[in-house]
Amino acid sequence: MKVAVLGSGIIGVSTAWWLRQHGHEVLVLDQRGGPAQETSFANGGQISVSYAEPWANPQAPLKLLRWMFQDDAPLLFRPQLDLRQWLWGLAFLRECLPGRLAPNIRAMVALAEYSRTTLRSMRTDLDLSYHHLSRGILNFYRDPHEFDQAQRAAGVMRDLGVERRVISADEVLAIEPALASQRANIVGGDFTPDDESGDVHAFTLALAERCTAAGVDFRFNTKVTRLVSAAGRVAHAEAVAPDGAFETHGADAFVVALASHSPALVRPLGVPCNVYPAKGYSATFPVLDDRLAPVVSLTDSSHKVVFSRLGDRLRMAGTAELSGYSRALNPVRCQALTALATELFPGALDVSRVSYWSGLRPSTPSNVPLIGRTRVPNLYLNTGHGTLGWTMGVGSGRALADIIHGSRPEPEFPFLGL
Ligand SMILES: Cc1cc2nc3c(=O)[nH]c(=O)nc-3n(C[C@H](O)[C@H](O)[C@H](O)COP(=O)(O)OP(=O)(O)OC[C@H]3O[C@@H](n4cnc5c(N)ncnc54)[C@H](O)[C@@H]3O)c2cc1C
Repeated sequence: MKVAVLGSGIIGVSTAWWLRQHGHEVLVLDQRGGPAQETSFANGGQISVSYAEPWANPQAPLKLLRWMFQDDAPLLFRPQLDLRQWLWGLAFLRECLPGRLAPNIRAMVALAEYSRTTLRSMRTDLDLSYHHLSRGILNFYRDPHEFDQAQRAAGVMRDLGVERRVISADEVLAIEPALASQRANIVGGDFTPDDESGDVHAFTLALAERCTAAGVDFRFNTKVTRLVSAAGRVAHAEAVAPDGAFETHGADAFVVALASHSPALVRPLGVPCNVYPAKGYSATFPVLDDRLAPVVSLTDSSHKVVFSRLGDRLRMAGTAELSGYSRALNPVRCQALTALATELFPGALDVSRVSYWSGLRPSTPSNVPLIGRTRVPNLYLNTGHGTLGWTMGVGSGRALADIIHGSRPEPEFPFLGL
């Protein structure tokens, strides 16, 4: 069978790899000049299975309302004249109902765990290097109330079989001595030794190389503009070729892995796809002094930012802004990231050579991605991975390839159409 995968981020490339492993002919189309040039370019780097929690919970609506008037809020809803944004917001409120939280967490953890196991085996089997570190994730708290709440969340995760240890401030420093300057501020933490970190961009590039060697056909600088149906199926994808020419690509099956741009292509076919962009920022610093920079991947809970060591660089990422498709960098937010990094790790980083980036997290109201069949028999979705596309990426690709191939995917997850 010939399968066209639209999008070459972590999700599209993983799907292409696993489809090829099943023996299918695979064509990948992407508008950019290479793989992982959009959201999978410079994210926070965490494989955070043990923190696979949705934004939507019973406390979220009040918090969001408060944050609307706070420019540096960790999650900011900026109302636009955009019906899709409002419909997304309403669906988000539904996901905040008490009965929704537990099934959403269960689905996210199941897929994330499956993905981490898959990632580990691919790393070894394919000899992929991407600055990965298996040192766990350490979440630290400054606010005793937040620390208290976190202990309850840790309990929920432990009930799902996830190892999330609540630890004292001294233990926080023992695990990551680079936080020494913050001893007086930290009240405690939680530590998830099984979690990992690594460079999603380097991984996706390396996997795309393996795909090419295995016979996957990548066409870059090719923007897909429409999916054309005939007799109730997708017949071909219309696209603009690198030279600007109009072209069409036929296939037996089509996978939409276009992150926040997925709805624009599938909605005209009557396929629901409630994915909306949540803009996030990252800052990447060259490390000046190895002894002063963290190695363990960190989450600063008060500021909702994460840190991952990627070789001789430190990546910091955070903030979520639901404000449409603009990737504009707000200088105030950028400077706030650098100021915090300098405060936490004095002398560790070369802030004069910082590199700022923004990306659009493809977010569903529940944070549960859309993976599986659609009402159009040969059209499949693999999108909406939001804050956890790196954590769930290779597992999502493998599970969808199984579905397309006609086998049952492994994880207990609400796959579409199964
Ligand atoms: C600041 C930030 C920090 C994050 N930190 C983490 C983290 O620590 N851990 C984690 O698990 N996740 C994290 N994420 C989330 C993660 O990065 C995303 O969920 C993931 O990268 C999404 O992958 P994707 O393949 O769906 O999207 P993308 O990588 O965006 O891929 C979609 C592809 O589709 C292509 N495309 C779009 N439209 C068209 C078109 N019309 N025609 C052709 N091609 C098209 C694009 O060029 C792109 O290559 C973070 C995200 C952000 C923004």
